[in-house]
Amino acid sequence: MGSEVSLGIPSVADGNVLLAAPRGYCAGVDRAVITVEKALDLYGAPVYVRKQIVHNKHVVAGLEERGAIFVEELDEVPVGSTVVFSAHGVSPAVHVEAEARGLKTIDATCPLVTKVHHEAKRFASEDYRILLIGHEGHEEVEGTAGEAPEHITLVQTPDDVAGLEFPEGTKLSWLSQTTLSVDETMETVDRLREKFPQLQDPPSDDICYATQNRQLAVKEISTDCDLLVVVGSANSSNSVRLVEVALEAGAKASYRIDDVSEIDEAWLDGVKNVSVTSGASVPDDLVDEVLAFLVERGYPEARAVKTAEESLIFALPPELRRDMKAAQA
Ligand code: SF4
Repeated sequence: MGSEVSLGIPSVADGNVLLAAPRGYCAGVDRAVITVEKALDLYGAPVYVRKQIVHNKHVVAGLEERGAIFVEELDEVPVGSTVVFSAHGVSPAVHVEAEARGLKTIDATCPLVTKVHHEAKRFASEDYRILLIGHEGHEEVEGTAGEAPEHITLVQTPDDVAGLEFPEGTKLSWLSQTTLSVDETMETVDRLREKFPQLQDPPSDDICYATQNRQLAVKEISTDCDLLVVVGSANSSNSVRLVEVALEAGAKASYRIDDVSEIDEAWLDGVKNVSVTSGASVPDDLVDEVLAFLVERGYPEARAVKTAEESLIFALPPELRRDMKAAQA
């Protein structure tokens, strides 16, 4: 099938289709989605979820079909109901509000986001001003900033650094959102360090392993690439970053799509080499549909390009495990 001509479009069997590996679900997304599924099994529908459990509209729609109700804020959740907090994390104020409303909470915050929360608390307790590199309004940034609102200054781009001023003797540290561009974040940190030599680093990288691995993989499949397709939703920070990384790494064009229906046939005009990847909240069947679409249009079967092994698995939230165990007893 790979070399057949279809739909009147010339065969591009001499082209390449490269598939990033790793791509798609990370350990934190996997855990968050399973958390909602198990909560539905255990407590029955409806189970409320504050914000999108992960930033993918297909995943959210699938869970809605099973009885999850997604809300923006806790005042939409009936008193006494069960509510799951999303993988992006929440500020302490949200926990307090949940308790005040008598809600049963299950916290699906990714442990790698929780790690950043702990770093924020520690730096704040040592009276540091924390330069939080991230995007204003992103749920993860709101959650992390909420741990130490008096101590946080948001830095969104390398160019923001020029406008930062602090009184002499201010202790400074930096943290970041977990899903940023590694290269752009390091540029911001370099500028910060140049301007504020006293800058204290966090104990380890905040940009998570999954974000880093997916960006490295995209760099690998961007050279000699006419078109790089990223499957992922518009509000998925790590997916949007993959398009930027692809273009910087040499892809002639790159587009983000939620699913195969969003591919514009015109993108394939004169295109021989196509590369495909997906963000950390994207189920693999959405990628398979893109690959099938390419085969139908005369492209060869995809060749996976593996740049890292991933085997990390996170345990489900302890409050859920406890209830699952009690249900089996
Ligand atoms: Fe956790 Fe990284 Fe996945 Fe976000 S992208 S859920 S921080 S592993």
